[in-house]
Amino acid sequence: MKLIDDYLKEIEKDLNKSAISVNTEEIGFVDEVRDGVVLVTGLDNVTFGEVVEFNSGAKGYIIDLMEDRAGVVVLGDYLHIRSGERVKALNYTLSVPVSEEILGRVVDPLCTPQDNLPTIKMDKMYPVEKIAPTVVYRKSVTVPLQTGVKAIDALTPIGRGQRELIIGDRGTGKTTIALDTIINQKGQNVICIYCGIGQKNSKMALVVDLLRRNNALEYTVVVNAPAADAAALQYIAPYSASAIAEYFMDKGKDVLVIYDDLSKHAWAYRQISLILRRPAGREAYPGDIFYLHSRLLERSCRIDEKYGGGSITALPIVETLEGDVSAYIPTNIISITDGQIFLETDLFNAGVRPAINIGISVSRVGGNAQTKAMKQVAGKLKLDLAQYREMAAFSQFESDLDEETKKLLNRGAKVTQILKQDKNKPYSLGEEIVVLWAAHKGFLDTVGVNDVEKFEKKLIEIVRRKGHDVTSIILKEKIISPETEHKLEKLVKEVV
Ligand code: ATP
Ligand code: MG
Repeated sequence: MKLIDDYLKEIEKDLNKSAISVNTEEIGFVDEVRDGVVLVTGLDNVTFGEVVEFNSGAKGYIIDLMEDRAGVVVLGDYLHIRSGERVKALNYTLSVPVSEEILGRVVDPLCTPQDNLPTIKMDKMYPVEKIAPTVVYRKSVTVPLQTGVKAIDALTPIGRGQRELIIGDRGTGKTTIALDTIINQKGQNVICIYCGIGQKNSKMALVVDLLRRNNALEYTVVVNAPAADAAALQYIAPYSASAIAEYFMDKGKDVLVIYDDLSKHAWAYRQISLILRRPAGREAYPGDIFYLHSRLLERSCRIDEKYGGGSITALPIVETLEGDVSAYIPTNIISITDGQIFLETDLFNAGVRPAINIGISVSRVGGNAQTKAMKQVAGKLKLDLAQYREMAAFSQFESDLDEETKKLLNRGAKVTQILKQDKNKPYSLGEEIVVLWAAHKGFLDTVGVNDVEKFEKKLIEIVRRKGHDVTSIILKEKIISPETEHKLEKLVKEVV
């Protein structure tokens, strides 16, 4: 016995002395090729999200770990992958190259440029999937993020680090609100990321063109996973956008990310799950569909200055069918986000644009971030509108109304008018406050309903021409003082 032990020790010593080093590789073989998803055997020590390389050069990453096989989604072309082909695990999780240079560019979910401009020099690799910062690192939302849309900034204000859902049927102006918000960030020190998921390429071209024309592209990154792309790319697109956002947030910057839209993201994931033959649940979505979006949106937060500051504000977009907010994906995302802006087809067709249904739109945390001056004017408006909605419904059937009701109806109708806003024309905070102040003080009561639009145009024109001192005082003092009110009154009376 002793002899054998000695012998083994001798061998070990020899081995230690030898110059041969051992390299291990995790190798498997393709078992089955399905539509965009490949099942691989032999990869026993891989982790979720790990990147693998096929012999033919294609790459993929692990999305499913079964007892005897691993499910791999292929990034790019999967048509030439054959069963029996060798697969090598690369021992790193899916990451994207990021750098400051990515600003102003259009990239695919793997950060490869799509705009025929030079390659982007990489600064760091950021993991596509990341656990969100814990509560220790976070700070509550107190800094406003101005959208430039009066109705939103007044009634459902958004703060930096918040997640606010934009939800509505097809063609109700969801994308327009998101893009206006990006345009309004000029000079606000906010980096914007627009992530298009499952959109038509023609629509994406219009988005890029709009941003370029408004000089907004220079501080924006467009991540594009169009409908023509594989489901795998559409699935990772929002996570990539989030990774890019985290790169800038880690530098202490404020970032705004738009996911347009998460319904299509859920479809892409459903497609992958069904191909993997996972059990289908409600609306044929897999059981972990909630986790799909919660882990994405949790990554948006505001970081405490102690840990570097910075924030990610998320505006996810969800498309509903016939206004049904109780469908699976809408309810999930409504419960994850800190509020929603609900857009309605009826309002849109009635000419109320942005078509926001103020009754069921909320912002759960943005109120803390709202400027005091805005609070002063918006509080009353909210009440006016709520009362108006209540009255308007039954007043249609009544012929003689008492004075009080008539006054309420008149005020409500005017406020509804004044909240209308053209697309791609965001207002500055000062301008918003002046316009809403006029409505709040009842200056519109004597203006005809059809003249409100003209009134507003004129008012904005005058404010832009000679109201700079008033708006700058409001922005500086952050409240509307009695002296400012005097000045405002003079301005508004001129228009009336
Ligand atoms: P989809 O479901 O197709 O993505 P969407 O909800 O994103 O649509 P948009 O594409 O933003 O809607 O807008 C639909 C149409 O309404 C566009 O032609 C847009 O120009 C118009 N529109 C949106 N908002 C306004 C507005 N405030 N004023 C005037 N037109 C608007
Ligand atoms: Mg859209």
